[in-house]
Amino acid sequence: MAGKSFVPPCTELAHNSYLRKVAARERRQTTKPLRAMTLPLQSTATMIAVGTGALLWIAEGILPFFRVRSSRGRHAFVNLGLAATNLLIILPADIATAAILEQTGATFSGLRGYLPDGTPGTIAMLLLLDLWLYLWHRMNHEIPIFWRFHAVHHSDAELDVTSAWRFHPGEILLSELVRLPFLVLTGAGIRELIIYNLLMNPVIQFHHSNVRLPERYDRILRTVIPTPLLHRLHHSTIRSEHDNNYGALLSIWDRLLGTLLIGPVEPTKALGLEGTSGPDWQKWSTLIQKPFRG
Ligand SMILES: [Zn+2]
Ligand SMILES: [Zn+2]
Repeated sequence: MAGKSFVPPCTELAHNSYLRKVAARERRQTTKPLRAMTLPLQSTATMIAVGTGALLWIAEGILPFFRVRSSRGRHAFVNLGLAATNLLIILPADIATAAILEQTGATFSGLRGYLPDGTPGTIAMLLLLDLWLYLWHRMNHEIPIFWRFHAVHHSDAELDVTSAWRFHPGEILLSELVRLPFLVLTGAGIRELIIYNLLMNPVIQFHHSNVRLPERYDRILRTVIPTPLLHRLHHSTIRSEHDNNYGALLSIWDRLLGTLLIGPVEPTKALGLEGTSGPDWQKWSTLIQKPFRG
């Protein structure tokens, strides 16, 4: 008899599940050669981040927005000291994350299994990763235990490109742990994580930088990415200002979720946190202890 044969619903469900597993296996097989590209891609991402950081550091020296500052070298030494400490967490955590995603990806494709292959699927994953970072950053402001650690980032009164790397190791560890279930559920791949970092790191360095950017350029750029003006408001000493502009790579999440704040920022504006941004606090050892002090 011609025509479609009857398939019992339970069989169809099993069949669909089987097809998804086959698709996941095929995807893994096609990404195997790409794994060989992971190292060059990671190296490229690192070089772009370091190169952008160096260029912004030079630009801050030529065209600074905030002019009255203490020693740039000393400020950078403290922030990059924290960054170096964080590498001790990030490097093993990234290796463990890669191993876990490879294991879980073998049997569970997550949301990725429902996204199209190729560039559209990669773009969708990059958007999801950026949405996650927006939500994580917002949680850091709204959940007191997370804020204790994130406050170290905000205690910087002299925002510049090195502030992009000023985080307490506790925040880095928590972010790696909390992000893992999200990565498993979405089915994100290591390659997508590296591409996301490649795009996001230069942007976060840019919006932390102390470069004087004419308002008209800031206005154009902030339709897409968080700009120095938006992020200076995020580092304001005033809480009603700093609980806004959470975006990392894109400014659309703040726009869509009602946390976009645009306002004038003068070069005399106070940044940091009242009480914990003075010179006495700007030491590696003091900042490491900060979350555990009262
Ligand atoms: Zn913040
Ligand atoms: Zn910041």
